[in-house]
Amino acid sequence: MTSSYDSNNIFARILRGELPAHTVYEDADTFAFLDIMPRGDGHCLVIPRKPARNILDADPDSLAAVLRTVQKLSRAVMEAFAAPGVTVQQFNEPAGGQVVFHLHFHVIPRFEGVTLRPPGTMEKPEILAANAQKIRAALVG
Ligand code: AMP
Repeated sequence: MTSSYDSNNIFARILRGELPAHTVYEDADTFAFLDIMPRGDGHCLVIPRKPARNILDADPDSLAAVLRTVQKLSRAVMEAFAAPGVTVQQFNEPAGGQVVFHLHFHVIPRFEGVTLRPPGTMEKPEILAANAQKIRAALVG
């Protein structure tokens, strides 16, 4: 069975400007913003503008554009947080750990010996705003 794309998923609504986001980067094909329940400071999500449920139905050109932005953001979060490493994660379908059904890549700065925080804890808006600003600054710098 092929699962379909729901145009009212949370990230589609963020793309349409119906829900707020702490935007860190955008271009013609991709959009990047902070995860509101970060597994680490500076945890970003990168999504294509073109609707795709996940990696299984994504248009290859859109996927290529997303990965270009993932690379850009990986470098930017490492610089912004002086992190020696970065973790990129991507989940597909409920059995694969996917919760929001618009294709997205997680980009998380990492530090030696520091584990990811457990999922599900909402970050304070002022901390998200400050972290987004740091990443935007690294992208222009
Ligand atoms: P997953 O589908 O498992 O890759 O996880 C979806 C991710 O989206 C989780 O890390 C959530 O914290 C994150 N998330 C859910 N709602 C929002 C939102 N409104 N803004 C930013 N991130 C969100």
